[in-house]
Amino acid sequence: MAHKISNDCTACGTCIDECPVEAISPGDIYSIDPSVCSDCGTCAEACPVGAISPA
Ligand code: SF4
Ligand code: SF4
Repeated sequence: MAHKISNDCTACGTCIDECPVEAISPGDIYSIDPSVCSDCGTCAEACPVGAISPA
């Protein structure tokens, strides 16, 4: 299991510094590497537009 970032992502960059295992990569839409994500949920709480959800 891993969290996922939806098309609602505005590429604000807030989540990337919140991830304790550095699973998030920048882009037009940010992405989460499912092989690294520990499903902690920290990024989902930090995202201002609610673009991150449990997969
Ligand atoms: S759920 Fe946790 S481990 Fe997974 S990308 Fe978000 S902050 Fe990182
Ligand atoms: S915090 Fe939300 S809107 Fe900002 S880059 Fe991360 S997923 Fe995208």
